[in-house]
Amino acid sequence: MSKRHPNPRLAKIHRNYSVEEIATLYGVHKNTVRNWVKDGMPTNDDRRPMLILGRDLFAFLQAKRVKNKRPCQPGEIYCVRCRTTQKPAGAMAEYQPLTGTSGNLVGICPSCESMMYRRVNLAMLALVGTGLDVTLVQALPHIDESTQPCVNSDFN
Ligand SMILES: [Zn+2]
Repeated sequence: MSKRHPNPRLAKIHRNYSVEEIATLYGVHKNTVRNWVKDGMPTNDDRRPMLILGRDLFAFLQAKRVKNKRPCQPGEIYCVRCRTTQKPAGAMAEYQPLTGTSGNLVGICPSCESMMYRRVNLAMLALVGTGLDVTLVQALPHIDESTQPCVNSDFN
């Protein structure tokens, strides 16, 4: 987990880091750090060895974090267990109405096979379900209101 989501606060903003030092600090491969540079992390440009200012490292990882918390894209549902948005297995989902105008888009996570739920307005279903084979089902009397909707949903 810490490797996929490096903690920006490990960087001390008043010092410089070499690629090797950053790799050690975050427990990642040097190539990962080089990819961060390719992704736009500022360096001391033409000097060798390459050095990265702590505050640039901090800002870059902070921005990366925000980017990782992107909202669900059309055709994706947030998997609570994987903590990421996923296209449901088989690109199949069910729309389970909760009210006349909204419901849950339900799919199966392709990574961990958990059920994934995304709260969606019926009016937005065509957009949210882009690229998915969405089956409309009738409201079930036992629908559990505590099921986790997509916490990142940007369409509500
Ligand atoms: Zn999952």
